[in-house]
Amino acid sequence: MASTLPTVENVPSLKPPVEEATLLHKQLLRGPFWQRIPTYREVGEAEFLDHRWQAKHSITNVPKLLAAIEGLVDEKFIDDARQGFAHAPMSVRVSPYLLSLIDWQNPYDDPLRIQFIPLQSRLLPDHPRLELDSLHERADAPVPGLTHRYVDKALFLPLDTCPVYFRFCTRSYAVGIDTEEVEKYDLHADESRWQRAFAYIGSRPELEDIVVSGGDAYNLRAAQVTLIGETLLKLPNIRRLRFATKGPAVMPQKILTDDAWLDAVTRIVDAGRKLHKEVVIHTHFNHPNEITGITETAMDRLMERGITVRNQTVLQRRVNDSMETMKLLVKRLGHVNVHPYYLYVHDLVKGVEDLRTPLQTALTLEKHVRGTTAGFNTPTFVVDAPGGGGKRDAHSFEYYDRESGISVFTSPSVHANTHYLYFDPLHALPPESQERWRHPAEQQRMIDEALSKVGTR
Ligand SMILES: *Cc1c(COP(=O)(O)O)cnc(C)c1O
Repeated sequence: MASTLPTVENVPSLKPPVEEATLLHKQLLRGPFWQRIPTYREVGEAEFLDHRWQAKHSITNVPKLLAAIEGLVDEKFIDDARQGFAHAPMSVRVSPYLLSLIDWQNPYDDPLRIQFIPLQSRLLPDHPRLELDSLHERADAPVPGLTHRYVDKALFLPLDTCPVYFRFCTRSYAVGIDTEEVEKYDLHADESRWQRAFAYIGSRPELEDIVVSGGDAYNLRAAQVTLIGETLLKLPNIRRLRFATKGPAVMPQKILTDDAWLDAVTRIVDAGRKLHKEVVIHTHFNHPNEITGITETAMDRLMERGITVRNQTVLQRRVNDSMETMKLLVKRLGHVNVHPYYLYVHDLVKGVEDLRTPLQTALTLEKHVRGTTAGFNTPTFVVDAPGGGGKRDAHSFEYYDRESGISVFTSPSVHANTHYLYFDPLHALPPESQERWRHPAEQQRMIDEALSKVGTR
């Protein structure tokens, strides 16, 4: 008797199969791609995978950049970068790994170049309402470098350095060395400051969750990871720790070759597990090109050690503000076992107006991203409400005027009865609104208008 079970061929198929070749999220860059850069032509794999080599050859100024990409770009680009660096509020630091992921045939449009190397010709004037510490982290700090904003969680900044520096750093008020534009607020790794932070954390029974950030936890020495991890795990009120680091995205080599650091992190994760406390890594990938075969190997190593990694992305114009890029990023993160956690609408940081998008971009992208993969691998799109309101679901605005670019948020569990305003970048507004923002009296009028309409969304 012939089987009545349908074969794969004759099941009426609503969803046609997808060609393997179109599954771009699985196609990770492998091989000695760095050898495309003349300076790295002779660099072998062992050297390139050595985190010390990466750190030592990181690029911190224009002469070094020039030396590394000589012959790849024209003098016009170099000049543009030189002037861009001079006006950047942020220190600059780029690893050879990132440098070799940039498409130097088309440096103006490359999404990694845009994030790391400022070009004078691409800068746009700041919105009049931008400030240096837009999240007011210092205002919510009982101890310098410890921000206690939410009831049960706090942000601990043990140090002020990072493996690479971004143009759009939300902590440019403290991170990196003084630049021509900004004198920094001092948060260097100082154990007496740490002890005051630990004492405060221990004195607050409501605190359960500590984000160890910076700066960047990658730059903590192994002994410092151990000290911070052990001290915090010992506090009975603490249930959850996160080490926040851009490391996996900018220098996955460290996870592969800095065994002392990774072993220290692993011991804290294991110690936490025995105490039934969660210890995880939070990282920061922004573009699918930042995820390579080297990343996958590094993330595999973390997976084997039972270390959970979550990702926070910053939405940036011309970097990841297209549907295709954002969907590919989310799928690729899931593919290497990194959970997309948050997508931040860009903070109101000075000097990077070319990177900001209107809130609407986030709302549109979210609609397209949700449904492309597992729900737990779908990030929540948030606005970190300027002025200290904390993270708000991008869709939860009380009012959004797309003409003036003003959106209004509330944050009842952080500060009841306060309205928080986000401002779309001027370049995204119609010309009439741009004109209104040029006049201080009009600025206030637009803000008052928006506030008067709260509740009418
Ligand atoms: C983001 C943040 C946290 C952690 O918030 P989650 O939503 O739990 O990720 C804690 N404190 C501050 C000040 C923060 O900005």
